[in-house]
Amino acid sequence: MGTDRLSETAERFGEALKNREFHVWYQPQVDMRTGVPRGAEALVRWQRQDSGLVRPDEFIPLLEKAGLTALLDAEVMRIVCQDISESKQRKIPFGPVSVNLSRLHAERQETPERFRRLTEQYGVTRQDLSFEITETSAEENGGEGIIQLADDLQEEGYRVAMDDYGTGCSTLKLLQEVHFDILKLDRHFVSRIGDPRADIILASTITMAGGLGLEVVAEGVETAEQICFLVEHQCYFGQGYYFSRPLPKEQYIRWRGAYETAV
Ligand code: C2E
Ligand code: CA
Ligand code: CA
Repeated sequence: MGTDRLSETAERFGEALKNREFHVWYQPQVDMRTGVPRGAEALVRWQRQDSGLVRPDEFIPLLEKAGLTALLDAEVMRIVCQDISESKQRKIPFGPVSVNLSRLHAERQETPERFRRLTEQYGVTRQDLSFEITETSAEENGGEGIIQLADDLQEEGYRVAMDDYGTGCSTLKLLQEVHFDILKLDRHFVSRIGDPRADIILASTITMAGGLGLEVVAEGVETAEQICFLVEHQCYFGQGYYFSRPLPKEQYIRWRGAYETAV
């Protein structure tokens, strides 16, 4: 990847925002004991006018280098608020929706204020939304910015999740310093269920999270065996291809509606 792709992406970004090329897909989260939906994670997709659909792993690292991810997240927040507001008007179940925040927010004190304006504009409540912050985002600046951001969002009444738990270097330090509400087990660990070492790490992580009063959500759940292990160890919420891939809004609404009519 050269500077060419970086500058090309940065240059196209403003135009892409104007053309509304960013879309949000929703991946359901489920109570694995009952199959009842508990909400969804918002995952961004870039439908480029000049090429095709681009996945976040391809462009977010570039936008991050260019210092543009906070603008992307603001656009995602706007779309999510709009979708929630529309679902309320249609009286259909939709949220709560969990939104990913990039590490660059940590340097932006105005983030919670900007989110307040958006939620007021769309009539979205604190219960309709939560936020995910990755552990690796705390590794810069000793984590100060991320701690402050989590605090500010919680003070506003939002629930905050620690994303990709276990992949960073300062996991326990961060858990000590930030009173997260939710812990998301990284799919790397979930995919290794059945390996004795992974099983021990997961089981003790879930126990620790319970002791800290955190709700645990497993990501990347793909098999019935993984569900059995997780539920048996008291991790009740899951997200992954076993239940559904991320879906465009209307498909997600149909997925959710199909569940509601089945019960
Ligand atoms: P993430 O937050 O860890 O999101 C979960 C990723 O795992 C998603 O990839 C999802 O499609 C994928 N996934 C879900 N279930 C399964 C499964 O069962 N098996 C496997 N192998 N993978 C599964 P996606 O959508 O490509 O997103 C990649 C990453 O991009 C996200 O990882 C997140 O870090 C970032 N991202 C996505 N949307 C946003 C956004 O709006 N803002 C920011 N800042 N980052 C975002
Ligand atoms: Ca996430
Ligand atoms: Ca994750």
